[in-house]
Amino acid sequence: MQGLARSTVRASTACRAGGRASHRLPRLGAAVILAGLALQPLAAAPGYAQATPQAVPTAAPAPGAAPAPAVVGAPLALPPAPVIGKDVTSFLLSNGLQVLVIPDRRAPVVTHMIWYKVGQADEPPMKSGIAHYLEHLMFKGTKNYPQGYFSKTVSQIGGQENAFTSSDYTAYFQRVAKQHLPLMMKLEADRMENLILDDATARPELQVVLEERSMRTDGEPGSRLGEAMDAVMFWASPYRIPVIGWRHEIEQLTYKDAIAFYDRYYTPNNAILVVAGDVDASEVRTLAEETYGKVPRRADPGQRLRPTEPEILASRTVTLADERVTQPSLRQGYVVPSYRTAEKGEAEALDVLAELIGSGPTSRLYRELVLDKGSASSVGGYYQSTAFDDTKLMFYATPSENVSLPDMKAAIETVLAAVAKDGVTEAELVRAKRKIVATAIHAQDSQSSLARIFGSALTTGSTVEDVQTWPARIYAVTADQVKAAAAKYLTPDRATTAYLVTAPPSGKKPTAKAPPFPTAGGAGGLIR
Ligand SMILES: [Zn+2]
Repeated sequence: MQGLARSTVRASTACRAGGRASHRLPRLGAAVILAGLALQPLAAAPGYAQATPQAVPTAAPAPGAAPAPAVVGAPLALPPAPVIGKDVTSFLLSNGLQVLVIPDRRAPVVTHMIWYKVGQADEPPMKSGIAHYLEHLMFKGTKNYPQGYFSKTVSQIGGQENAFTSSDYTAYFQRVAKQHLPLMMKLEADRMENLILDDATARPELQVVLEERSMRTDGEPGSRLGEAMDAVMFWASPYRIPVIGWRHEIEQLTYKDAIAFYDRYYTPNNAILVVAGDVDASEVRTLAEETYGKVPRRADPGQRLRPTEPEILASRTVTLADERVTQPSLRQGYVVPSYRTAEKGEAEALDVLAELIGSGPTSRLYRELVLDKGSASSVGGYYQSTAFDDTKLMFYATPSENVSLPDMKAAIETVLAAVAKDGVTEAELVRAKRKIVATAIHAQDSQSSLARIFGSALTTGSTVEDVQTWPARIYAVTADQVKAAAAKYLTPDRATTAYLVTAPPSGKKPTAKAPPFPTAGGAGGLIR
């Protein structure tokens, strides 16, 4: 559910943590998301067109799901709602570590992930970037293993590893042959307790992080605009701060800040272990007790209390001009509830709304602005639903050559206003629901995607059952709920608009060609 909590996807480029291989996560579906499924779009690509979804496979109905429609296969009928991860087992160790086991017997491999319920939005004031900096530093040595040992071991056994930081969580994972799971658990449990840092090891890594910021944000007009947009869209929420941190604050971070953050948050009672693959729950329980079970609680991070958004009835516009921009584009965002903060049924309605208006060639925006009027060359939208706090619903467009950005914005608002005023058709509603759930079902084919869906949902306030029954709740969304969500949230006075425009040549040598469309930025940025 719940899209990458603010993992939005901020455009995610691979991290350059010193000394470790930088593996990219497999792309979770196309650019636009598993809408509600903990998966935010990894990048809102220009001209993105979603493939025609395949039929939703029939699976056992969720507990409490609506009875199967009388005529399965009829145009407006939905199949019984499938259950996401129906074989998932969850249990707690005595030190408070939550363990999730997701059996997948198709190949003798396992995905081993540890998720910490901490991210950028939990950082202390003036320490922006510390969550991500610590993620880099977790690859330095421990009391028991020297720097580089863990990564070298993963590489030697033919495994893959990665780590990522978002606003709401930080996760580390390895994908290895089944027989190496005990070793991964031993090393990751060791890293939860025994990290050693000093100035000599930490300081060079700060330069790596600063370079990462230069490359990922400062050198990318679309990313800079995304950062500026978040900063004006969110007034009080820490989602206004970039996951990688503000440069001037990153520069001041020290290994002592990292240790303090580690000691407060990297404790078993603030973590979730997810093991997906060729294993069963009792096997994982035994291994977990022998490894993670021996890590003492170091702290009680307590409730995640953060400033929340006031109701802002003021539209905002940010503009970024850069000579490398060859094609002007815009983004328009609205602060909306997440799965954790929404009233019952509202987040599901927002998922359907975002799909119906902005996802793929059958969406309202695409049909009206690209196909009918020809005023846009690309258009889309997504809802970043997996977030601990109020989050955002975004639209983006690249106008056709003779269309101005303000006219493009007005055209988008006309489409949104029509949904708010006249609602949606039953056919649109059913198509959107089918597409959302089909995407989620396809995600289950990937072991690591399913592990990520559960990890991101559970670190942002959802439960295992919330994820499992999510398709049934999507199917239950009514046309009235979709209309009401549009009328409540997608109004012009709540909009934040960001324009990316061309600037006259400065005479300076460009460092890179800017992408025609701003890659997704903002709340939820998932970075490595
Ligand atoms: Zn990084």
